[in-house]
Amino acid sequence: MSIQENYYDTKNRLPEHVQLVAVSKTHPVSAIQEVYDLGQRIFGENKVQEVMEKYPLLPKDIQWHIIGHLQTNKVKYIAEFVDTIQSVDSEKLMKEIDKEAARHQRTIKILLQVKIAREESKFGLDNEEARDLFQKYIHGDFPNIEITGLMGMASFTDDKDQVRGEFLTLKKLYDEFNQHKKLGTLSMGMSDDFPVAIECGANSVRVGSAIFGRRDYSNR
Ligand SMILES: *Cc1c(COP(=O)(O)O)cnc(C)c1O
Repeated sequence: MSIQENYYDTKNRLPEHVQLVAVSKTHPVSAIQEVYDLGQRIFGENKVQEVMEKYPLLPKDIQWHIIGHLQTNKVKYIAEFVDTIQSVDSEKLMKEIDKEAARHQRTIKILLQVKIAREESKFGLDNEEARDLFQKYIHGDFPNIEITGLMGMASFTDDKDQVRGEFLTLKKLYDEFNQHKKLGTLSMGMSDDFPVAIECGANSVRVGSAIFGRRDYSNR
């Protein structure tokens, strides 16, 4: 299928209240422009270097979301233009984003990335760390940041019950936080598991290969 068919197919599978982040990592600017021309405005990238190269070549009303692990020393390169950093997984990173947002006299939106997968390798806060950062935020510790929600990645497994259980864990934390302050976004689900994520309460999904096709890492 073409990118256009893939895009419409994906959009058709999303209920109206679910936001689509088109994950364009490893794909060329021409492919992003093609999806932009179909109406998509939110794109996700996971590497600072890559988004810095693409950003100047594409329309300025694109909302860029960082979805991959972000090193503190790289925040300065994206602070001017990034819309949302979905992968905030430490207080140190949050402080740096706050500092850089202030320097650019803007507010940067973030999601707290919570570790829900059983696998050891995944980044993310545990529930307690997320609660702690959220409390500090509510008390005004990060004036140039807006926490707009939570993000999580389920395990890579065919076991749908396990995936469902992991998504529901995050939904529970999301509901808990919402009692203190209204959060907009619950970002869960990728190409293979977004329908399950939506059943579990996701209102934002990050979809890459189902739109752009398989990623080719061979020339990197
Ligand atoms: C790459 C990536 C995605 C998209 O994955 P697909 O399986 O291609 O849809 C979503 N979220 C994160 C955090 C990613 O790194």
